[in-house]
Amino acid sequence: MKFTHEFITDRIVRIRDLSYTAMYLVLGDRKNVLLDTGIGIGDSRKYIKDVLDKDVDEVILTHGHLDHASGAILYQDLPIYMHENDRDLMNEHVFNKENRIDYTRNTLSMIKVDHEDFTEEDVLDGLSSDHTLPLKDGDEFDLGGITLQAIHTPGHTQGMTMILFKEDRIILFGDGCGVGVLLVEDCCSTVEEYRKTLLKVKTYEDRYDRIIRNHGTCESPKELLDNVIDVCSDILEGKDDHIPSSAPISCDYPVFMAKETDSNRRRLDGKEGNIIYAENKIR
Ligand SMILES: [Zn+2]
Ligand SMILES: [Zn+2]
Repeated sequence: MKFTHEFITDRIVRIRDLSYTAMYLVLGDRKNVLLDTGIGIGDSRKYIKDVLDKDVDEVILTHGHLDHASGAILYQDLPIYMHENDRDLMNEHVFNKENRIDYTRNTLSMIKVDHEDFTEEDVLDGLSSDHTLPLKDGDEFDLGGITLQAIHTPGHTQGMTMILFKEDRIILFGDGCGVGVLLVEDCCSTVEEYRKTLLKVKTYEDRYDRIIRNHGTCESPKELLDNVIDVCSDILEGKDDHIPSSAPISCDYPVFMAKETDSNRRRLDGKEGNIIYAENKIR
């Protein structure tokens, strides 16, 4: 199997693909929505049909990166929503099959999962972002018994959108805030701008109890948000650990990790939340 899944509530299914990136299937009384589509290797729609016995009715992409938007072609007959700011980024990412294959192979070797291998035939074509419908801050999706609200959170990318599961009091931070937020690429905000986004997220803090993400453990304690806001402040005041680091993508500027970690990427002070940033992405 190229996918695995777990129910994280009776209405939300976390599905991981070969790149170990999670997508989320949200089951409403009236319709089902898929949040993100993975790296686009293997047929997630067939998996959802055959294994979960569910249909997907709509798709929301949290952002345009290769590990989230590359499977979108499987759903091109359905409405696919994504913030307009990520349209160019999505096209840069999803049509580059070599990058997607490298990303998947690197992840598989890094997490040392004895997973089914894949062939070129499993690698889907990219879908142009022309097929996407605009996703705007505040948009609500009423699935029946579960309502999703989009929160535009520029930072990791300019179109990055978090999703609030209103009744369930869960928020999907996606790649927008986590254990190693990347502010390295051209599409990323500066730390200064990103901090403002996190302060906006803070205004939603009384509406959720659980944070879910798309990578690694996919779960974080609620302190994560405050921790990453503090990391931003430390960087801006020149008080972070400023550890020379490498970017997972090519970058013309020196890259730093804000807080020192052990070999498992855990912060030495035990707190969760970190930022990897390029020197030109501070202010
Ligand atoms: Zn991303
Ligand atoms: Zn990602």
